Amino acid sequence: MSSSSEALKIGIIGFGPFAQFLASTMVKQGHTLTATSRSDHSELSSHLGVNFFRDINTFLEVDNDVILLCTSIVSLSEVVKSIPFHLVKRKPTLFAEVLSVKTYPKDLLIQELPETMDLLCTHPMFGPESGREGWNGLPFVFEKVRIRDQDICSRFLQIFEQEGCRMVEITCEEHDKQAARSQFLTHTIGRILSEMDINSTSMDTKGFQTLLQLKENTMKDSFDLYSGLFIHNKLAQQELKNLELALQTVKQRLFDRMDEK
Ligand code: NAP
Repeated sequence: MSSSSEALKIGIIGFGPFAQFLASTMVKQGHTLTATSRSDHSELSSHLGVNFFRDINTFLEVDNDVILLCTSIVSLSEVVKSIPFHLVKRKPTLFAEVLSVKTYPKDLLIQELPETMDLLCTHPMFGPESGREGWNGLPFVFEKVRIRDQDICSRFLQIFEQEGCRMVEITCEEHDKQAARSQFLTHTIGRILSEMDINSTSMDTKGFQTLLQLKENTMKDSFDLYSGLFIHNKLAQQELKNLELALQTVKQRLFDRMDEK
């Protein structure tokens, strides 16, 4: 943190693995963090230097600059509808979220957030595995959906800029189009490889080691996360069909060649 005046007060809702991962860097940068979650994460939070509140009302009474939603995709609607927004004092407070799909939270939050709150939709395109050695060069996708307090918003974005992230400003809709082809496909292949129970052999090629790594990385994410990528990105269904079709085509080519012999 270059100067303490730039430190933000950030309150996290949903303190699971990804929120904990983000929080450790935010605390390291000098920001003041509080958190609340469905489960009790108070012990772990105190190790991270985060003040944990079991009760969301008390959590919201802290005068935060930013409320950061890190809950699972599939629980978004339930979680947002249970937030007593009338307790938020600062106007406008920046409401930011990090869900791995973007159009769904954008539409829902435009509907559910009080008009007095600013909205920043983001997707850090990395996690506890891929960002273990730091965030330098890793993409951070965002859309400024409704921003009046530009200062708070840019100070929040600076958290990621400061770590060297590649800042990608695109719409949530464009994110989902690209993510269905890249992220959803990556997770699906990783899960298929896990289903096949592939394991290291005594003669692994580099290519096979890449597949093993993919399997390991994708299986560390929860099934809530993976199913959210499918259920709440309407383009994902088409990519699943494309994958099935491609497998059929490749298979067919092999059997055709066999018949030629
Ligand atoms: P996740 O399984 O997607 O989400 C876990 C979080 O959701 C926990 O905080 C959990 O609360 C909360 N939650 C789940 N069901 C709930 C319910 N019914 N009511 C209230 N809270 C509920 O795992 P994650 O990896 O930590 O991801 C969190 C968010 O970050 C997701 O939206 C994900 O898409 C996004 N994200 C993840 C990554 C990554 O690499 N993991 C990267 C970028 C973005 P408790 O812990 O209190 O039970």
